[in-house]
Formats: sequence, C-alpha cells, structure tokens
Amino acid sequence: MAKRAESVALRTDFSLLIGGSLEASDRHLDVINPALGEIFARCPAATRDHLDRAVKAARAAFPAWRDKSFAERAALIKKMSQRLREKQNELAELLTREQGKPLAQSVAEIDRGAAQSDGMVGIEIPVETLVDDKERHIELRYRPLGVVGIITPWNAPMSLALGPLVSALYTGNTVVLKPSPYTPLTTLKFAELLNEVFPAGVVNVLAGGDDLGAWITEHAGIDKISFTGSVATGKKVLASAAATLKRVTLELGGNDPAIVMDDVDPKAIAKKIFFASFVNSGQVCMAIKRIYAHEKIYDALCDALVAEARKAKVGDGLDPATDLGPIQNKMQYDKVVSIIEDTKKRGARFLTGGDVPNGPGYFLPPMLVTDIDEGSRLVQEEQFGPIVPILKFSNLDDALRRANDTRYGLSGSVWTGDVKRGAEIAAKLEVGTAWVNQHRATSAFVPFGGAKESGLGRQYSALGLKSYMEPEVVSIAK
Ligand code: NAD
Repeated sequence: MAKRAESVALRTDFSLLIGGSLEASDRHLDVINPALGEIFARCPAATRDHLDRAVKAARAAFPAWRDKSFAERAALIKKMSQRLREKQNELAELLTREQGKPLAQSVAEIDRGAAQSDGMVGIEIPVETLVDDKERHIELRYRPLGVVGIITPWNAPMSLALGPLVSALYTGNTVVLKPSPYTPLTTLKFAELLNEVFPAGVVNVLAGGDDLGAWITEHAGIDKISFTGSVATGKKVLASAAATLKRVTLELGGNDPAIVMDDVDPKAIAKKIFFASFVNSGQVCMAIKRIYAHEKIYDALCDALVAEARKAKVGDGLDPATDLGPIQNKMQYDKVVSIIEDTKKRGARFLTGGDVPNGPGYFLPPMLVTDIDEGSRLVQEEQFGPIVPILKFSNLDDALRRANDTRYGLSGSVWTGDVKRGAEIAAKLEVGTAWVNQHRATSAFVPFGGAKESGLGRQYSALGLKSYMEPEVVSIAK
C-alpha cells in the first residue's frame, strides 16, 4: 500500500470540551492511521482533574437543562444534526483517517447518525395514567437522572456516540462523553459543533485512555453509564458502577448467527449476507459472524459468497474504489491474525484468503472458511474481523441449537423464501434482535440491545429513552 504524502504532517488541532471551554492537557494520545500503520495526529488526554471539572460543569448545567421542555431540547438536537450534516464531509474524512472505513461509509455513519437523532426526538415520553377511579389518581412520570457518562468503542465512533448522547440530552440529562483512545478525533471535532449548539456544561467531551473510562464509572458525580464496547470491559463497568449504584446500559459484543434455509436462491441473497458479514471489515457488533447453511444450498451459497469476496477491493478508505478498509488497530489485528492461525492449525478450509499480507497498514482480505470444527475459536469467539465460517446443517433444530450455543446474544437472522416460517424460527433465536431476510437493520424507533452476555438494557425507542430516566409514581388520594 503506497504511503500518502499528506499523512506526514502531524495534526494537533484538537481540544477537550469542559463547561463550554475548549481545553488542552499536558497528557496526550497519539492516533494511528490504520491504513498506513503510522501516527498522523495527536490530541489531549484528560486527567482526573479534567474529569472532576467536567462532572462539576455537567452538574451545574443540569437544573436548567432538565427544566427545559422536550420540545426545546429537541429543537437544539435538530440544530446539532443540521450542523453535523453541514460538516459531514470534513468529519467523514477524519473518521476514515482514524478508523479506516471507506469514505462513503464514514459519510453514511454521520448522515445516519444525524437522521437517527432527528428520529429519536420525535418520540414522546408522556405521563402515564395507571389508575383513575373514585378514590385515587395514580400516574407514572419519568424524570431525568442527572449526569450521564458515555463511553464508546473504535468501530463506529460517531454513530455509537450519537445514540446515547441524543438519548441522554433529549430526556434532560447532561453528559460527559469519552471516545475510544484509538479513535478520539472525530468525536473531539464534533465537540466543537456541540459547543456551538448547547449551553455550556450540557455536553463535555474528554479523550483519554482506558484509565479515564474507569474513573468515569467510579465517579460519584455521575448518575448513569452508557457503555458500548467488549463483554470483558462491560463486566468491569458494571462492577465499578455497583459501588455508587449507577444506572447502566451496556451494549456489548456479539457472535451473530445467520441461518440460511433450503428454500432460498443463494445467488439472490449472497450480496446481502456478504455485506452484513464483512462491512467495516467485520468490525461491527451485529455483523454476521457465523453462517449456518442448509446442506441443500450449502455449495451454491459458498460459491456465491466467494464470488462476492473476489469482487471486494481491500485498501485505504480514502481511495474511492475501496470496499473494505484495514483492521482499526494493531491489538485487534493481532487478535484476528491469531484466530486465522488457529483456524489453519485446526485444518479448516479457506475458500478465500488465508494468507496474511505484509504491511504497511493493518490489512486483511475477506476470508470464508468451511470444514471447521464447531469448537474452534473462529466459531466460539467474537472474531471482529474479515473472517467468517460457513457451517452446514441438515436439521433445523440442530441449526438452532448450534446458533444458540453461545454466551453472546446480540442479534441474528434467518434467510428463507417462507417469511412466516422465518418469523417462527427467528423467535427461537436467543438474541436481542432477530431479523428475517435482512441483517443489521436498525432504527431510532426500534429498541436495540443484547441478550445474554451481549448487554444490559436497550438503546433507542421509548424503551431506550426511558432508561435515561427515573420512573416516579405520583399517587393522589381523591
Ligand atoms: P473496549 O471494551 O476495549 O473499549 C470500549 C471503551 O471502554 C473504550 O473507550 C475504552 O477506553 C473504555 N474502557 C476500557 N477499559 C475500561 C474500564 N475498565 N472502565 C471503563 N471504560 C473502559 O471495546 P473496543 O475494543 O473499543 O470495542 C469493540 C467491542 O465493542 C466489540 O466487542 C464490539 O462487539 C463491541 N460493540 C458493541 C456494540 C453494541 O451496540 N452492542 C456496538 C459496537 C461495538
């Protein structure tokens, strides 16, 4: 991969946002462009003092923000979405440089995040009347919690910040937001837009390492944590939040199965299944991570998926011809490479890929694997990279048992010509979302979250919004 000349100058035009002021720090993070494998930017990293001041600012801003109406808060959030769209191209280019995904997908991430934000602020959280009889009137009200700490991962920094951010703000909370140390830059530039739109202290944005995440979860001035990341860190977050009994939403990893029935046309669905498996080079929590295909269509589906893999161009996300960018960071790259090596050692067959290219950049081609032992790491773990096993079944009950035989439960899909049967099968998947003839379709109006170890609580929809609020019963004797 040729190096890009413009990557040489180190970008340093980034600040933390605390109480309406853009601030520097004497600590910093170096940020690597994964397509080049080299540092291209440096940003400030927050200290404990920055966090204390951000929490203080968020607490100070809370009463006035809480007392605004939903409509007033919605109007500012819509202004934020508008500013995001205006800055979309500039932000998308930065997102591709730090995250690696193709530029068109960075644009789509921001555009979709803005659209989902607008969608969420159309949802009403009315006061609910539970009883209204001769003796009593009892109603259920929802009030904001206070300060929400939002911690995000590196695979989709903007969309995974926007969901919790808008949920928290719309419901009347103030925020301290921390992006991943691997991808802090787009979020910090977004902070400058947030600072134009919202009153000082309503949103505070701090970049920092994993230690900053831990400080946020234990901070007594924070009332709720919305965490998106790995299962292992999610468990630490929950344990840490217990000390102050913070409310917690956890959006964690997945090992999503797709069950492909014998009545499909493999060629007609291969493109969709390939995209749902390999988009963002497989670094998507709800990507298809295991394909269970009926023996009748197994060979034809393998052929059709191989044809899709051969068409996919791997490269720098800034090249408009690129379909699949690099793995986002060296830690994840090494993890995927070790899964590839384990898969080879166990004698599985690679229909595509198998060789690990030399750098620079953390590139891996799309790999489709068959004849693999169900107990292997590739089937059991969340690979979070461009390597997907295709497993054969002859009996639906057996396919469902294998699909559900995992500690994960984020989402899954069923592919069939009979949608009624598809819905029945989907309902037997032990997941937060089960799709039929589609995968990865989400919306502001539909709750999303994980079953089992894939998470706790739901994001989006009225259900998700209410998790940023405290239910309060008001009971009146007549
Ligand atoms: P990670 O758990 O390593 O890190 C996520 C965030 O947590 C980062 O900001 C990190 O700095 C912070 N952090 C690290 N240690 C912490 C601690 N002890 N306390 C508090 N915060 C801490 O996850 P990652 O590698 O950045 O992201 C990939 C994972 O995220 C995958 O498992 C993926 O499936 C999952 N994910 C889930 C969803 C979802 O909606 N369910 C969406 C995207 C990604």
